[in-house]
Amino acid sequence: MTGLALHNLRIRYGHLEAVQGVDLHVDDGERVCLIGANGAGKTTLLKAIAGLLPVHAGQIHFNGHSLLRRAPHDILRHGIALVPEGRGMFNQLSVAENLSLGAYTRTDPLAVRQEINHIYDTWPRLGERRHQPAGQLSGGEQQLLSIQRALLSRPRLLLLDEPTMGLAPLMTEAVFASLDMAHRNGVSILLVEQNARLALAHSDRAAIMETGRIFITGASRALIDDPTVQAAYLGL
Ligand code: ATP
Repeated sequence: MTGLALHNLRIRYGHLEAVQGVDLHVDDGERVCLIGANGAGKTTLLKAIAGLLPVHAGQIHFNGHSLLRRAPHDILRHGIALVPEGRGMFNQLSVAENLSLGAYTRTDPLAVRQEINHIYDTWPRLGERRHQPAGQLSGGEQQLLSIQRALLSRPRLLLLDEPTMGLAPLMTEAVFASLDMAHRNGVSILLVEQNARLALAHSDRAAIMETGRIFITGASRALIDDPTVQAAYLGL
């Protein structure tokens, strides 16, 4: 079986069960968005997939392998990269150094250098600032950098936690353009996003999460027209 499959996943913080039996799959090449209110458990779910939080019960499989109790770097080697909430930049390091860190699992330095040059060509704002500390970039530029850094590990699946949070519309567009580009290159995407309209427009399937559970899943195109979704998440 290819892609990511979560089965009856439960994650706890002490006595609080933040994820309460979630089933979800992201097939190879698919883009799935996860939307829902604050505190629904979306970040918790992404962190557990990336190996940053222990799983209380249930299963996580990726391309047929169990990911339970694996270290984050091992999960990255299996082809899953996380773009965390708040971007996770090394602010003192330069743009170029941050990008190089994204490729630390790679053993083909020549190809990495070519890919980094390609990033500079595609996103000139990063190219022009390659020697500047990442902390000096605008929020949107940092988000692009964070996404490109994750892509340099050549993931099969990219997990993104609210990548457009606090960004101006033009930078939000740039972030989605970079995700569309990654998807065209064969990367699957699991996106947590507070802008439900954009998330649905840029995904194949959506899951809506409330208080630790997924209560609606379906094709994104169908959910855009669903009156419950429109009222609760699209402000219509
Ligand atoms: P948001 O959209 O606000 O980021 P979310 O859907 O990502 O929300 P989570 O951050 O996963 O939600 O939080 C799920 C629940 O777990 C919330 O009730 C939250 O208060 C709680 N929680 C999150 N992190 C911790 C923690 N480190 N310790 C204890 N409880 C936590």
